[in-house]
Amino acid sequence: MLIERAMTAVLRRLDRKYTRLEQIGHVIDIPKGDPEKHLMLYLHVPFCVVLCPFCSFHRVRYKKDRAKQYFSTLRKEIRLAHDAGFRFGEIYVGGGTPTCNVAELAETLELAQRLNPIRQVSIETNPDDLVMDELKILRDAGVNRLSVGVQSLEDKLLHEMERQEKYGNSAEIRERLAMTQGIFDTLNVDLIFNLPHQSLDSVMRDVDILTREIEVDQISCYPLMGATTTTLRMKREMGNVTYNRERVFYEAILDRLPETYQPSSAWCFSKHQSLIDEYIIEHEDYVGLGSGAMSYLGGTLYAASFSINRYIRLVEAGHSGITRMSRFSDKDQMRYNFLMTFFGLKVNKAQMEKRWDGRFEKTLWQEFAAFKLVGAIRDDGENWILTRKGMYYWVLMMREFFIAVSNFRDLMRLGIKSELDPEDLEELSKSATLLAKAGK
Ligand code: SF4
Repeated sequence: MLIERAMTAVLRRLDRKYTRLEQIGHVIDIPKGDPEKHLMLYLHVPFCVVLCPFCSFHRVRYKKDRAKQYFSTLRKEIRLAHDAGFRFGEIYVGGGTPTCNVAELAETLELAQRLNPIRQVSIETNPDDLVMDELKILRDAGVNRLSVGVQSLEDKLLHEMERQEKYGNSAEIRERLAMTQGIFDTLNVDLIFNLPHQSLDSVMRDVDILTREIEVDQISCYPLMGATTTTLRMKREMGNVTYNRERVFYEAILDRLPETYQPSSAWCFSKHQSLIDEYIIEHEDYVGLGSGAMSYLGGTLYAASFSINRYIRLVEAGHSGITRMSRFSDKDQMRYNFLMTFFGLKVNKAQMEKRWDGRFEKTLWQEFAAFKLVGAIRDDGENWILTRKGMYYWVLMMREFFIAVSNFRDLMRLGIKSELDPEDLEELSKSATLLAKAGK
């Protein structure tokens, strides 16, 4: 417990540094790409029918006309990225709810595939969008992996998360998942563990249903990530957020999974070699398009405007939607690589040292020494390998990293008050002082 607390404190400081992006202050064009490199393309769709209380993604309430206008601008930005020399090998669409308008999404995916040598397309969705006609449209539009945000299969928890009314109860969700399994190369289901009123039995039941009854291709078990704003709201609506039980939940999940499910990352488990959720693990450089999307190119982190109005204006005028950036030092880039690549469980030593001209382990000797000392990393000569103990530490580190990203998003959303839904704005305003402190 002491190690976990110390790690959390250090990480909070480091992660704040990574997510402090400075305002650029003038309009910029899309950076130049190298057509020889096939990067990962992330597309952000910031619309949801219901705004869940535990969520701090960049999203607003879905309105059909607004979404259509947004998708049209997104397609324009895909063309601009192509003109700037970028070529993409994979697409990941996140949100929000990317499937809020399937026809628009399919048109966008078709354009991206026409312009790029795309091998894989992964999209996120919610259980109520698992409708056969729409799933067929998505499959025909080239989607290989569908990731469904289920979060829990317990009705009481679904109700507390305000998801049951819109996304269906446990029985309905199970039925829809069973119908969807087999349509795509990979069906992934997202679960959250360590929710305030969740019992260990409840999580074990969810894991059993998904892996032994429905036998989905993949499950991703995320720890609850309480960013500043969501923690306040959850405390009121769902109960206290604490990380004391997190490790017990995680260890129990590892023990409960059938042997056929092997880890693809510290929190993603697959029946066979499947695509995984964290596009940033496998792809050092990636391009994010859409309002609020982030890109990481050559050691610089960029963020597009969180104002959907401004994003549309910028892109329609032929510019990039980027309004903020942060340039990392070599050491910070290595630390970022360290966090992301080890999350994928195994790092090839020769490849990583080649990437950093033999400076990787030497520069990060303190990190390597500390994690080897606590038994988190072992060295088999060819690879550095995350141990079972290390897997939990990486879950903790990624939780803190994503909390810092969520706090950054919330700070940005505070700057676009006129575009937010009243309930979202009220919530964000309540935590404005805490957010400003968390960002320092
Ligand atoms: S959890 Fe998913 S569905 Fe709920 S508000 Fe967040 S992005 Fe939208």
